[in-house]
Amino acid sequence: AEKLLEVVDLKTSFYTGAGEVQAVRGVSFQLEKGEVLGIVGESGSGKSVMAKSIMSLIQSPGKIKQGDITWRGENLLGKSEKQLRAIRGNEISLISQDPMSALNPVVKIGKQMTEVIIRHQRVGKKEAEKRAVDLLGKVGISSPEERLKQYPHELSGGMKQRIMIGMSISCQPELLIADEPTTALDVTIQSQILNLMSALKDKEQMALILITHDLGVVAENCERVLVMYGGLIMEEGPVKELFQNPKHPYTEGLLRSLPKRSNGVKERLVPIQGSPPDLLNPPQGCPFADRCPYVMDKCAELPPYFKVDSERKTMCWLHESEEGDNHE
Ligand code: SF4
Ligand code: MG
Repeated sequence: AEKLLEVVDLKTSFYTGAGEVQAVRGVSFQLEKGEVLGIVGESGSGKSVMAKSIMSLIQSPGKIKQGDITWRGENLLGKSEKQLRAIRGNEISLISQDPMSALNPVVKIGKQMTEVIIRHQRVGKKEAEKRAVDLLGKVGISSPEERLKQYPHELSGGMKQRIMIGMSISCQPELLIADEPTTALDVTIQSQILNLMSALKDKEQMALILITHDLGVVAENCERVLVMYGGLIMEEGPVKELFQNPKHPYTEGLLRSLPKRSNGVKERLVPIQGSPPDLLNPPQGCPFADRCPYVMDKCAELPPYFKVDSERKTMCWLHESEEGDNHE
């Protein structure tokens, strides 16, 4: 398969009055054309900062400190703001955590959409209006002509989210990054939006990065998953195998904290005790050591990645001996 995106040893920090907050502490992964990758982790694990780093949208006091981000063979970190804008508009699209605030409340939907289309696709107003109607159809909005005449506050949350998705795919991106795209929506609308994104992914042949704290969303929508914690990837692998047989104690804990139903009775949740590491002073060793039931002396040193099989790696000393001679 063709490699679309490659991130190597990415580090992004925020330089605050209190000191350096190391939000992303050395993250590497790849994405293939048309792939659906899930990134899962609690809030503060570095997921959103990583997404913004890929888009070169980190603003002061934040800074990408180190690493390479290669998009279709070109290093994004060497690009000018003008070049980046062209890529952001046409090749990679980001739907952020708070899409509601991305719509201007005092401008009608139609005007907002046509402006985006005109800016990115260099077409006239009439053509842009036609495309806006088509896009709303694609994201499942009925009577699009009527919707285009409305203001954002006249529409429901789910409708606004569909419009945001429509705007994000208007340029036919090769990659759509969706950061907690459904958190603000109720459960039924959530699954409609996720189904919509999967359908669009197939039809438009996009790759999709789905960032979420919800393991269920990953299980149902993704092929491969990265589990993030404390600014690092703890574990990576195909979704099914990783959930069936987690190779990192943090993933194990996440899975145990998922509500399960047996015989219609809801089992008690087992939350992970303790709290995530302070990224102002991140631990030298394993970031999960404070909360890990298997912690041992060795964990005072940061583990490298151990390849537990050809498609899976984990940052945990427990798997040191399982590794063959395929060291990373
Ligand atoms: Fe637990 Fe040690 Fe593995 Fe970290 S490296 S997850 S502390 S066993
Ligand atoms: Mg976030």
